[in-house]
Amino acid sequence: MQNFTFWNPTALHFGKGQLEQLKTEIPKYGNKVLVVYGGGSIKRNGLYEQVMTLLGELNAEVFELAGVEPNPRLTTAEKGAQICKDHAIDFILAVGGGSVIDCTKLISAAAKYEGAAWDIVTRKHIPTAAIPFGTVLTIAATGSEMNSGSVITNWETNEKYGWGHPLVFPKFSILDPVNTFSLPLNQTVYGIVDMMSHTLEHYFHHDKNTDFQDRMCEGLLNTVMETAPKLLEDLENYDNRATIMYTGTMALNGILNMGYRGDWGSHNLEHAVSAVYDIPHGGGLAILFPHWMEHNLHLNVERFKKLAMRVFDVPTTFGTDEEIAQEGIRKLRAFWTSIGAPSRLADYEIDDSKMDLMVDRAMARGDFGVFAKLNAQDTKEIYTASL
Ligand code: NAP
Ligand code: FE
Repeated sequence: MQNFTFWNPTALHFGKGQLEQLKTEIPKYGNKVLVVYGGGSIKRNGLYEQVMTLLGELNAEVFELAGVEPNPRLTTAEKGAQICKDHAIDFILAVGGGSVIDCTKLISAAAKYEGAAWDIVTRKHIPTAAIPFGTVLTIAATGSEMNSGSVITNWETNEKYGWGHPLVFPKFSILDPVNTFSLPLNQTVYGIVDMMSHTLEHYFHHDKNTDFQDRMCEGLLNTVMETAPKLLEDLENYDNRATIMYTGTMALNGILNMGYRGDWGSHNLEHAVSAVYDIPHGGGLAILFPHWMEHNLHLNVERFKKLAMRVFDVPTTFGTDEEIAQEGIRKLRAFWTSIGAPSRLADYEIDDSKMDLMVDRAMARGDFGVFAKLNAQDTKEIYTASL
């Protein structure tokens, strides 16, 4: 285990009716509030109305940025930052999923910077100030509601990069599972794949003495795999929505990965694909992650074997260490297929015609990955196997 400092300042308000917390949270930051949301799901399910009513009760001066895209775009964040500058916004409220929250993080930092918002994403400018913001989460997936990371797409240049800064932790996040009842089956599945992928990204490292961290990751994966099929049978089951919402947040709020650094190569591979093809993040991960695993199995068979035995119940009698490890990967893919996730890039009509562009985008920051350092050749091999 490596030395670490754990710090996570986001207040979580979890459960039915917690939207009311806006009444005590927002006045702490001021009166001019920019509400950021996506393509309209919150208008259809009534959440928009509830938020506006509460803001009205606070006599807040409300501004709006609607239409944040899934895979949020730089141009939208720039628009939001301009609204903040023009109207001296005190507080931003993100109502939506990872895309709305990630976009809000960039708005919050870009509003306090005179240069281009893209400088923040490319790490040319390190934020020195940010407008405080909170979130009302509507999809369990990214963990963005309780972390300081953000992923932004520059659609003009086909670039999609993650960035982060301690200044962009949400001040609070409201997690009411009821707000996820309207999430359609496919998006529910993508969210489940994403939170499992975050946990798997943590799991692949070479550090020693992480028994407790391993058990937490395995416990999270086991819980999600037990809950997901039940949830998909009944999308409005409160308890199952609550479990999945809680696991989604826990998978990427820093609690699972104290004292070691996970791999994150599969996320880099996925970002490059969705920068070129604009596919759902969780769908891309379901395709790519098992291929990343097959490609890198030889680096630490023990680690893959542990995962296979503890999460996928592969018995020791199954075969050699490598056969056990491989069976774990097969079972992961089978689980994702069983809940309706895609397994080939062809499922999104992606062929090898833009292979070089995808590889180029994946390599934009050089060789990547911590457990497995991947170069352009590795990247191309994993993409090719995923076609
Ligand atoms: P999302 O892109 O925020 O939302 C996906 C879709 O679900 C949208 O079309 C949205 O519609 C709809 N939706 C959301 N909540 C709904 C609800 N309650 N009812 C009905 N429809 C609903 O999904 P996400 O998976 O949370 O975010 C994906 C993005 O986050 C990607 O760009 C990914 O790269 C990034 N990401 C970030 C992190 C991080 O730590 N920051 C980690 C992993 C991934 P509307 O637009 O109409 O609301
Ligand atoms: Fe993710």
